[in-house]
Amino acid sequence: MLQIKSASEIQQMKGAGALSKAALRLAGTLAVPGATTAQIDAAVEQLIRDGGGKPTFKGYSGFPASICSSINAQVVHGIPSSEAVLADGDIISIDTGATYGGWVGDNAWTFFVGTVSDEVKGLCEVTRDCLEAGIREAVPGNTLGDIGYAIQTLAENNGYGVVRGYTGHGVGRVMHEDPAVPNYGKRGRGVRLQKGMVIAIEPMITLGSYETRTWPNGWTVQTVDGKAAAHYENTVAITADGPVILTSDERGPWCPMQGGE
Ligand code: MG
Repeated sequence: MLQIKSASEIQQMKGAGALSKAALRLAGTLAVPGATTAQIDAAVEQLIRDGGGKPTFKGYSGFPASICSSINAQVVHGIPSSEAVLADGDIISIDTGATYGGWVGDNAWTFFVGTVSDEVKGLCEVTRDCLEAGIREAVPGNTLGDIGYAIQTLAENNGYGVVRGYTGHGVGRVMHEDPAVPNYGKRGRGVRLQKGMVIAIEPMITLGSYETRTWPNGWTVQTVDGKAAAHYENTVAITADGPVILTSDERGPWCPMQGGE
């Protein structure tokens, strides 16, 4: 069932969004060569708790950590580990979620670790552009197909793959509400967008084939061909005045973030 939020509820959601963005920004500053994803996870959890929130992911369906950290060919849902040491040239997609004041914020960014190849940088830039293109379509009267179409055409016109097995989603008092928000689609198809819907738009785009497989740990998703993947996400409210990015802080939704610019 679609959950429609009032203007004051959307206003309240900005608190959760800002804390999620602060967590993501911190994660980006820590994504440097030699760091482990477990260190980043611990720092993010501390920041969210110090800010009066709860890390939404921790314990979600049994997920063991506060961030998802997905390196290189990993697409989403990577589990932080003290064994996962970042190296120069890696990219790392970090997803952070905070629950604050009874609402959830959900956002992700792909960060550069040291110096990244031009090929991978190009993938990240286009994936970020895909997110912006999807958000532009998030207006009342459009459809989910319009969002998916905008993302898919931009990615595929650049020769990249669009992951099919994972999607964006509604966001509210819980992290995953209806509807699913695919990163592919046809213009004019699918659920019609209404004022008061809040959705996470999160393109997952690959350098090669879009096919993925899940690790035996049941969580980590990676590309089958081992090529890099990028992932950018914001939580967006659909309003009469256009899309409003809720995962934003005093520096705005697009950073500047360390890396991934
Ligand atoms: Mg999400």
